[in-house]
Amino acid sequence: MFGCFGKSECVFCSVSTENGFSIIYEDDTLIAFHDRSPGARFHALVIPRDHVSTVKVLDTSHVPLLERMIGLGHQLLKDRGYAQNADQIRLGFHVPPFNSINHIHLHVLGLPFGNRFREWKYTPGLWFAEANTVLERLRQGLSPV
Ligand SMILES: [Zn+2]
Ligand SMILES: [Zn+2]
Repeated sequence: MFGCFGKSECVFCSVSTENGFSIIYEDDTLIAFHDRSPGARFHALVIPRDHVSTVKVLDTSHVPLLERMIGLGHQLLKDRGYAQNADQIRLGFHVPPFNSINHIHLHVLGLPFGNRFREWKYTPGLWFAEANTVLERLRQGLSPV
């Protein structure tokens, strides 16, 4: 398909156990795996198999995808005993230029955070957008962040 230029260079387009990823869930659309540098007691990334660059390119057409990503994130947390409670969980995206890899990845965190710096890195602000806020903005036809 057109628009996949550079895909071969994207590490998240080739997530597999063979490539060293610790995969905890996968289906036709999504893959979830452990973050290599966990910021909290539980820290997974949920990505779409199809290459989407960053949170900034999302629009209303991505609402179903985002709903699935967030739904999976909540399921992973629930399976591990976390309550749907802001004290226990955090889900969101790093906003460019504060993102690491240009293949959208939802951070799914089960708290507590590892330390103050880790907490700051995933605190909603200029650099981190909470998943539900992004979803709500897209549903309203607004820009994602
Ligand atoms: Zn990619
Ligand atoms: Zn990130």
